[in-house]
Amino acid sequence: MSFLTISHLKKSFGATTVVHDFNLDIEKGEFISFLGPSGCGKTTVLRMVAGFETPTSGVITIGGKNVVNLKPNQRNIGMVFQAYALFPNMTVAQNVAFGLKVAKKPQAEIDATVHEMLSLIKLDHLAERYPYQLSGGQQQRVALARALATKPQVLLLDEPLSALDAKIRVSLREEIRAIQRKLGITTIFVTHDQEEALSISDRIVVMYEGNAEQVGAPFEIYNQPASRFVASFVGTLNTLDAVVRDAGSGMITVDGKDIAIDRTRLNGHKTGDKISLAVRPEAVSLGEATDKRETTLDGKINSVHFLGSVIRIRASLGENTVSFDTFNNPSAPPPSPGENVKVSLAAKDLLVLGH
Ligand code: ATP
Repeated sequence: MSFLTISHLKKSFGATTVVHDFNLDIEKGEFISFLGPSGCGKTTVLRMVAGFETPTSGVITIGGKNVVNLKPNQRNIGMVFQAYALFPNMTVAQNVAFGLKVAKKPQAEIDATVHEMLSLIKLDHLAERYPYQLSGGQQQRVALARALATKPQVLLLDEPLSALDAKIRVSLREEIRAIQRKLGITTIFVTHDQEEALSISDRIVVMYEGNAEQVGAPFEIYNQPASRFVASFVGTLNTLDAVVRDAGSGMITVDGKDIAIDRTRLNGHKTGDKISLAVRPEAVSLGEATDKRETTLDGKINSVHFLGSVIRIRASLGENTVSFDTFNNPSAPPPSPGENVKVSLAAKDLLVLGH
């Protein structure tokens, strides 16, 4: 049995069901992200795991024990929220010590744990400061230390980085992941930021309207999206209109050009069907095809954004438009809007979208 299991979890508020039949098994030490748009039910599932919300039905087990009827403080869970929920009238050290004081641990143990936690988050030197004397990133590190001080068996993080500015967000997420790995603590991290989820998770649960649309490793979620929603929510995605020219051989037509794809990828579409293709920017490149698995199309540049090492291009291919990146080449200026260019598509990386 997995360390944390969620089975047939459902939550309704009055007549509205916000979490449907939610199922998930999490292994000990895993870092799981719940990723999805605002209102899809991420926080509600997390709050049910924490015990702040009672499920309408379903079972949650931690270490083999059903915790649904346990109070939050009986579940041995640490939690960090989006807003800095530190006690403003307590120092950093007192904040970190809080849970241990409530649990009436001996003072020597409290002091040792506070010291251990503050060195873990590298803030020993700020132990006597008050929250208002800390930056946002420092406050969240203290919140993390406070959550970990009681040595919980599960760590729940509800958008802990979303109030921070971009640079701190990136460095703190790496720090959180490093600490999580070091402690081996089973963690659920809620975010609506796909880059964040892709970069730090062992597995991602992509949620949509109260359901888990897909559960998988970042590489899998990005490269083999199970639905149109997952494909468009995770990563940049071009969707192209195409027509099946010959289902038997896997021949499709995109803007007048025939492309042979693996026919098993047609998802049952027949000759003459109109289909949507999902094309990641990585499958598109500027210039003539250099590989026989690529097809060259005529394009026209719509816009060019010079971002430094990377240049983001938007081009029309007839009816369809695609966005893709190309690397800066210091000896060749990028194309200009309006310019006619060749654009190649890698057939093996085209996905026929299902629902
Ligand atoms: P966000 O990223 O915006 O926090 P979320 O995916 O975490 O979104 P939830 O906070 O879980 O979404 O909310 C899911 C749905 O449940 C929303 O439509 C929300 O309005 C509704 N909801 C949440 N809590 C309650 C409540 N106590 N009473 C009624 N409806 C609620």
